[in-house]
Amino acid sequence: MAKRDYYEILGVPRDADPEAIKKAYRKLALKYHPDRNKETDAAERFKEATEAYSVLSDPEKRKVYDQFGHAGLEGAAGGGGPQINLEDLFSQFSDIFGGARMGGGIWETLFGFGGGRRHGRNGARPGRSLRASLEIGLEDVLHGARRSLVVKRRERCEECGSSGAAPGSSPQACPTCGGRGQVHQQQGFFAVRSTCPHCHGEGTILRNPCRACGGDGRVARKRELEVHIPPGIEDGAQIRLAGEGEAGPRGGPPGDLYVEVRVREDERFHRDGQDLYLEVPISYAQAVLGDKIRVRTLEGEVRMTVPPGTPTGKLFRLRGQGLPALHGGPRGDLYVRVYVEVPRRPSREEKALVRQLLELEKQRRSQPAD
Ligand SMILES: [Zn+2]
Ligand SMILES: [Zn+2]
Repeated sequence: MAKRDYYEILGVPRDADPEAIKKAYRKLALKYHPDRNKETDAAERFKEATEAYSVLSDPEKRKVYDQFGHAGLEGAAGGGGPQINLEDLFSQFSDIFGGARMGGGIWETLFGFGGGRRHGRNGARPGRSLRASLEIGLEDVLHGARRSLVVKRRERCEECGSSGAAPGSSPQACPTCGGRGQVHQQQGFFAVRSTCPHCHGEGTILRNPCRACGGDGRVARKRELEVHIPPGIEDGAQIRLAGEGEAGPRGGPPGDLYVEVRVREDERFHRDGQDLYLEVPISYAQAVLGDKIRVRTLEGEVRMTVPPGTPTGKLFRLRGQGLPALHGGPRGDLYVRVYVEVPRRPSREEKALVRQLLELEKQRRSQPAD
């Protein structure tokens, strides 16, 4: 069957301006609207006019059509005619396509729409996930911690039970998509599958929106949440609180809350994974003669032996005084680096002793080595 000329279908001259084309299409769409016109070829006429309009209202396509005719618009899509942007069409002619006059399954019979829902139950979209952050100290890494966190988020509207419909009313199946949330066409020249422009994919529409939430099904709230931080957590780790993000619009499932945990820089200990590093000053005499010194740990204090003749910078390991692993197992170690501290203001007595020491060193240096 030979295709009719687009200008002829719309009944406009070849040099018609966009306004005239739109007007002509509107007239035909209303005339052959399948809801009103029950003649057998009405649906066919409606489709024909829609295709003609979709081409002639698009300057690019119109140019191609003027030059090459129908053949110019086929091919790329694998035959079947030009692509039609239904969303665009619906928004331009919402009174024709989206209005209450449309019956439930009309698009199905007309364009062969089908296909599954894009969204969950009731076509409800999920809520956004949220992010937050917390700062903790090394002691919290050792023992684990609980922190409260104030989150601003949209929660289910209690007034309407998150349906978005005013109490006493209820959402209705979207007449444009028949509750599917999606308009879809399997074959023919409407090679398009898209989100329903009327209900925006939700499958339902509201005639009487809830006053508390304006039909969104959610209201803004500040909520205090408790976050459990496990022992051994690393700086920058994320804790996921499932379902603690924003509620979805109109009963959609909630998103998650991701809490980033920052471990504060510690002025005493340097952390390397499960191990801790600590620097401890000792005196020259302690380094030479050895001593027992006090060393602080995350939990308190321990005694550590510095053996005689300890060089400055020597590293000692205190087993099991580090941090726990996130998934259990033995604790890390505490490494203690000792360094010899030189007194800046020695007392007179100290000076006298050090002077004696210096004399001894001079004598030793003047003697030949053994
Ligand atoms: Zn509400
Ligand atoms: Zn819809």
